[in-house]
Amino acid sequence: MNRDLGSLRSPQLQDRIERTILAVPLGATEQHGPHLPLRTDTAVAAELCRRLAECRSDIVVAPAIPYGSSGEHAGFPGTLSIGQAALELLIVELVRSADAFAGVVIVNGHGGNLYPLAAARRTLHAEGRDVLIWSPDGAGHDMHAGHTETSVALRICPDEVDMRAAEPGNTAPLPELIDDLRRHGVAAVSANGVLGDPTRADARHGDVFLGEWTDALTRAVARWSVPIGTGS
Ligand SMILES: [Zn+2]
Repeated sequence: MNRDLGSLRSPQLQDRIERTILAVPLGATEQHGPHLPLRTDTAVAAELCRRLAECRSDIVVAPAIPYGSSGEHAGFPGTLSIGQAALELLIVELVRSADAFAGVVIVNGHGGNLYPLAAARRTLHAEGRDVLIWSPDGAGHDMHAGHTETSVALRICPDEVDMRAAEPGNTAPLPELIDDLRRHGVAAVSANGVLGDPTRADARHGDVFLGEWTDALTRAVARWSVPIGTGS
């Protein structure tokens, strides 16, 4: 059975939509240093949804949302952002429109989306809609375009990675950077846009990270879907 919503024909969902969970990849289009593509976060979210659909037969994957709240990356060529308010509204309206599904899982690939996602979740929960919003745990990983993201990109889209251009950025821990990041954006703390060190990235590490995140996502969906009666 085809699990890609965009290529399904509407009647193919007719008899199963109320038993189907919609997984929505949410990413960003933003600078990822000199070596990674602008679509990195979107590609990661889409890959995690694809893997989730391999683990559960009741998942259909929506077309990925390629824009998020990326104002902190302004000033780097190619970064696009729809901002927090628009992203919050986009998620609220999209989930409302998906009421016929058994549930909606938003799989988020970009840390800058967390605040508007939390706001959207509050609105949707207050309306009685039970949406699961899931992001990979950043603990133990560098922040942006460093070892973790570069390793994952080498696994997902190696042709789009230029390792000759990979160079360390600011490797200070988040608590040291957060005030400057919030106030002045990434450009103020990292000239090359990297927060971490991508130089020893490896596709095999990327595969391990993706496997761990897929396991965590699959467990989160299993826990969440029991109350709505769609547990596998
Ligand atoms: Zn990223």
